[in-house]
Order: sequence, then structure tokens, then C-alpha cells
Amino acid sequence: MLAQRMNAFTSSGTARARTAAKEAAARGREIIDLSAGEIWAPPPPTVQDAAIEAIRQGVNRYTDTIGLPELRQAIAERVAQTTGLSWQATEIAVTAGAKQALFHAALALLDPGDEVIIPLPHWSTFPAQVTLADGRPVFVETRHTGYAPDLADIAGAITPATRAIIVNSPNNPTGAVYSAALLAGIAELALQHGFWIILDACYDGFVYATPASAHLLALAPQAQPLTLIVNAFSKQLALTGWRLGYLAGPRPVIEAAKALQSHTTSNPNVIAQHAVLAHLQGGDQSYERALRARLHAARNQGLAILDRLEDIPHAAAEGGFYFYLDLAPLLRQAGAACPLGDADDVAALLLREAGVAAVPGSAFGDPAGLRLSYGVPEDLLVTGLTRLVDTLNAQGARRATSAAPRPASAAAALS
Ligand code: PLP
Repeated sequence: MLAQRMNAFTSSGTARARTAAKEAAARGREIIDLSAGEIWAPPPPTVQDAAIEAIRQGVNRYTDTIGLPELRQAIAERVAQTTGLSWQATEIAVTAGAKQALFHAALALLDPGDEVIIPLPHWSTFPAQVTLADGRPVFVETRHTGYAPDLADIAGAITPATRAIIVNSPNNPTGAVYSAALLAGIAELALQHGFWIILDACYDGFVYATPASAHLLALAPQAQPLTLIVNAFSKQLALTGWRLGYLAGPRPVIEAAKALQSHTTSNPNVIAQHAVLAHLQGGDQSYERALRARLHAARNQGLAILDRLEDIPHAAAEGGFYFYLDLAPLLRQAGAACPLGDADDVAALLLREAGVAAVPGSAFGDPAGLRLSYGVPEDLLVTGLTRLVDTLNAQGARRATSAAPRPASAAAALS
């Protein structure tokens, strides 16, 4: 009944985790949802005011397919600030979120069989879009190197068919932030072998180390002609539902994105465009600073709770707003007393016993990982993580009890 491409294609694992949480809540269960990749915060007042003003002014028509020229200009200036390079409005396409920008990149660049290197764990949409564009995802494991890929592993994955690498730093789901040496090394490999760098910078406003590591293009400006930057206002301005993002790159790619967008969705929402334009033109970044400070505090508070986990290591959470647990030791030890086969089982257990929703690593190509979002309000975060730690530690205690030799008296009575 459906096209063949749908055979191996389902909605994202993160969406499935959220649905499971909603269903449990609908059954009357109190659920703390740490599964969503979004920040619980109202949009900046500038954005709210400008949106209302645009509606009052009767703004309602199509805009240019890839966005208002003034917005493309304002974004070009923002990208110039973060990269230290010059960018023109003609090198920017405004899209319906970062997801659309990534899809344009895949459709515009990939021929059938072209390979795209994707560090694993990976955000679920990366390989799905590559596959939809007839490309082939090639994964590079990062668990053994602290969730940032090893340059030698990337080099080992390059073949004559390599067309691009997706670099997502700060990373979803692991929170890893790539070092300057790694970013510069990736740029060098791309230049040497002539492949594209698709730089997903959606979380670049949330880096907690100071000073934050430099932008890939500030480290390797010569890679600009081979680099596509994907970003959005979804996370930075807590506007996930408004659907506004962008693609920055060489003009031929932006023209291709325009052609694709003109035949699919046309321009992104006009009210969202006016609202974000007003925010960017106002130039005040106190909202962004306050959001980063809030998430930094939540990160520290959450890590202090997760440090109580016995036998379950967690990633360093250097950026973004996700904690990432390595369940491998727990899964290795699980036995008859605690039948946990993979992270899906652990997520189901947490939903059932702790009332906490998390995203199992299967959504990210990693059956032993678990992602927790700390974009929720503080009280929910503290209660949710505390319940999670107690539940997982209790699994460990249950195993220890079942594995321990019987006390002498009981053993004697049975013998
Ligand atoms: N890229 C990454 C790494 C993400 O985590 C997300 C959303 O979670 C996106 C892109 C998509 O962002 P948007 O909602 O702007 O489409």
C-alpha cells in the first residue's frame, strides 16, 4: 500500500518516547517528562511583542521563499559574529526549523550511494534524512572516546564515496562539546578529501566551559566553501513550536534549498519571521544569557544528583541540555532478578516504577544509552532525577541480593 521507502522508516524515537509519556499521563499517572528536546520557558518578550504587533498590522502574505531579505541579512550578521568571517544575505536560507535546513542539505548534496559520516550516538533524524536522500549513513562510535569522535576513527571511515560528515557540537543526545583540535582536524580531513561539513550548531548557545571552544570556521576559515551551518531559534530562544531555523552556506547550495523549499513548504511562518527579526535587530542578548545561566545551574544541580548513581556512568554534559547515561554496566549485570535487555527496557521500567520519561538510546543508534533533558523546571528536574536514581540504584541492590551467597544460617537450614 505504501512506497518502499516507508518500509524502514518510522517516526523518530524521541517522538515515540514522548508519546509513551503522554499515554501514561492520560491513564492518570503523574509523569515527569524528561524526554523532550525543548526548554520550558516563555519566548523572549521582544519576540512576543513583535509577533503580536505583526498580527495587529495584518501581516499575512507569503514572503520570499527562503525568508525576508532583512531577516536573512540579520542572520548573516549573527553568523559573521560567531564565525569571524564575512557572510552575505545571499548565503542564508530561512527554513521551518533546523530539521528542514538539514533535509535541504541532504537532498541538495547527495547522489544515490553517497556516504555521510555520522558520529554515534546521533540525533535520530540525521541518518533518516540521509537515507531518504538515497545516501548511506556511515557511523563512527564515540562511546569509548568520551562521546567525541576520534580523528583516526573518522579518517578510517572515509572512502571514495564519502560526501559529507555531520558535526553536531554541542551534541544531542550526549551533551559532548568537540575540542578545538578535533574541529580543526575534521576541517583538515574535509579539505584533504573534498567532502562537505554539515555543522549542526543548534545548541551552540549552551556551552558551559569558559572560554567556550572556538567555532570550526574560526579555527579553519579555509573550510568555509565546504561548510554548511545549520541552526535554529528553536532552542536558543525557546521557540521550538514556532518553526524557524536556517541554513548558511555557499550560494549554489542556498539556491538549491530555495528550489526545494519553493516546491515543498514555501516560506517559513511569516509572523515568526517578523518576531525573530525584531529580536535580532534589537540586539539585546540578555534573554539568551539568562537562559544559558538557568541551564548551566540546572546542569550542575542535575549532575550532583546523578553522581549518586551506582555503577552507571554519565557523560560530562559540557553543552546543550541533555544528560546521557551509559547503561552498559547495568545491562551486563542484569539477570533473572532484574531482566533488563536494553535501554528500551530501562526506559519502560523508569516510566512504570518511577513515573519518569526518558529517551532510550535506541533512538540514537545506541541500545545502551539513556537521554534525559534538563530543560524542565527545577522542581520537576530534582524530583525526576531523584526518583530515577533511586529506582536504578534499587535495581543494583536487587541484583546484589539475588547474587549474594545465602547467609550461613539459612544455607544450613536448607542443607
Ligand atoms: N538538530 C538537532 C541536533 C536537534 O537536536 C534538533 C531538535 O531537537 C534539531 C536539529 C531540529 O531543530 P528544529 O526544531 O529547529 O527543527
